Amino acid sequence: MGLVLDWDKFGFNLTPTKTMFVAKSTPDMSWPEGNFVPYGDIPISPAAGVLNYGQGIFEGMKALRTQKNEIVLFRPTSNAKRFAEGADRLCMPVVPTSYFVSAIKRVVYENRDYIPPYKKGSLYIRPCLWGTGAVLGIAPAPEYTFLIYTSPVGAYYKSGLKTIKILISDAYHRAASKGTGHVKAIGNYAGTLAFLQQAKAQGFQGCLYLDSNHSKYIEEVGSANFFCVIDNKLYTPKLGSILPGITRDSVIRIARELLNIEVIEKDISVEEVVAATECFCVGTAAVITPIGSLTYMQKETIYNNNEIGLLTQQIYNILTGIQLAELPDPFGWVKTVSQADWAAKPLFM
Ligand SMILES: *Cc1c(COP(=O)(O)O)cnc(C)c1O
Repeated sequence: MGLVLDWDKFGFNLTPTKTMFVAKSTPDMSWPEGNFVPYGDIPISPAAGVLNYGQGIFEGMKALRTQKNEIVLFRPTSNAKRFAEGADRLCMPVVPTSYFVSAIKRVVYENRDYIPPYKKGSLYIRPCLWGTGAVLGIAPAPEYTFLIYTSPVGAYYKSGLKTIKILISDAYHRAASKGTGHVKAIGNYAGTLAFLQQAKAQGFQGCLYLDSNHSKYIEEVGSANFFCVIDNKLYTPKLGSILPGITRDSVIRIARELLNIEVIEKDISVEEVVAATECFCVGTAAVITPIGSLTYMQKETIYNNNEIGLLTQQIYNILTGIQLAELPDPFGWVKTVSQADWAAKPLFM
């Protein structure tokens, strides 16, 4: 305690916290206990697989404080499963889901003083898995590092839910079909910087990518999944080369099971989306962000007068209500973190 942080000043920037988690393994060994160590730089071989060939994946999660001051996580086992799929896709040793979740809970508890108060933001959690062993030719690295660091981040919406302007790319694709778009491979992201920079220079807050086979169907918004409302039905691009977002899955289930709205997962063309009455994007960082307009080939389509739509607002209220333990959680999505998770017991149980 005694830590003084000005919670109103945080944006989405790195503020290192007290403790990070580090474990190392080789392909033929299971994951050892690992260590909780002060946040800091790590020594790494210049020939590390991750630095030379991009053998690495990450996750993005948030720990929140509820009104009762409890610490909660949202669907951590789903992140663990996606992390395991990513490890497998990139030929890295899989971190078992129970080990992953235990390590997350302990890192969060260790850094509890850095979790912003109720509704002031969240502790962003970044688990990484990297090939840290040296390789010269293209091959899986001989050693792997599983590391988790955290950073407090500000409330995404400081003044209500504002719509964003999005530019649809006609010049770049984010992910190839049958590539690595469906896992959080580090190599998927640097390639999106050029277009994002161009879009921002033209006054847009985000970009949307089309499918790499036809340059016709909407995929996603760089680091968030896409939804639109047409004829009171909710549409979202089907899985394939998009990232299977946990927020995406949660929105689908909330709409279907709590709001009784038809949800259709399919290829959605740019022409079709012109008829939408609401558009929004979803992700751990973005939560639910309403889209005010989409621009493609110089043509801008404005949605709902540039304001958040009714269904978007409803879904936002339910999702954030469940995440903050203020609404019933019929899906069992919210997990609390307490001292019991931190007490000295092995990560493998
Ligand atoms: C992380 C991510 C998302 C959102 O996934 P969530 O599990 O909802 O946070 C969407 N698209 C991409 C490309 C991502 O990296």
